[in-house]
Amino acid sequence: MSNVQLINNLPFMLSSGYSNDNIWLTVHKRHKVKGKLLNSKMDEYTSIPLAHNHICDERRASNTDIKDCVCKWCYSYIQATIHPAIRKKMDHNSTQFSNLGYIPKKIYTINNRLRYISFGEVSSHIQVINILKHAQINNHLKKAVWSKAYGYWKGKQLNGNIENLNLIWSCSKLDCQKFIIPKGFNKSFYVYTDEEKLQESKAKAQKEGYKVIECNKMCAMCNHCYENSESTIVMEVLRMGRGKIKLS
Ligand code: SF4
Repeated sequence: MSNVQLINNLPFMLSSGYSNDNIWLTVHKRHKVKGKLLNSKMDEYTSIPLAHNHICDERRASNTDIKDCVCKWCYSYIQATIHPAIRKKMDHNSTQFSNLGYIPKKIYTINNRLRYISFGEVSSHIQVINILKHAQINNHLKKAVWSKAYGYWKGKQLNGNIENLNLIWSCSKLDCQKFIIPKGFNKSFYVYTDEEKLQESKAKAQKEGYKVIECNKMCAMCNHCYENSESTIVMEVLRMGRGKIKLS
């Protein structure tokens, strides 16, 4: 059942639920632990999770030992394991976006932002086309897609303009110092295991001519990924990292 509320005749998503085109949208909220409100990177942001694809699963398999791959430390895998209900929503969205006859509908979000692929990954060209169709009908929202699956996005476009959409390529390799922004994307996202490696990599990327932004994990104070359309590289210290992870 749809969780859309009409406000001044506009379809608003004020809390997590199904939109009027039957896509699950997560509205992120800060949680209280022992009476204390925790910081949340995406407080009041709305996002669309997808299922993990076969590459995610292969990289997570227990018989692989690719410690320098960010997928080994994937936050969405941990969350989907702790809360199996989320996994059902992820699967549902991937099925919906795999439908050739999918017709997207307009929604409004609390802060006029929308993130695609907060969890999981695209697993087909059809899913990419349907996400782009959703983005186009929601041109009024400031949107960002994070994806590692460059091959599915390559050369994809729709008739007509898609406005306010940043395509952000996520680098799979931790502590990577080989910098690229793939064609068709306007940003790349790199993750480091500690602050020192991030600063070293930032200096190298800047020397190569890239504009680098450090992610402060507080989107509401920053909004770079949603509002800035320049070619930039965003660097973040791994959520559970901060010096605790040793790759060798
Ligand atoms: S760079 Fe800013 S907008 Fe992008 S994820 Fe980090 S805090 Fe959020």
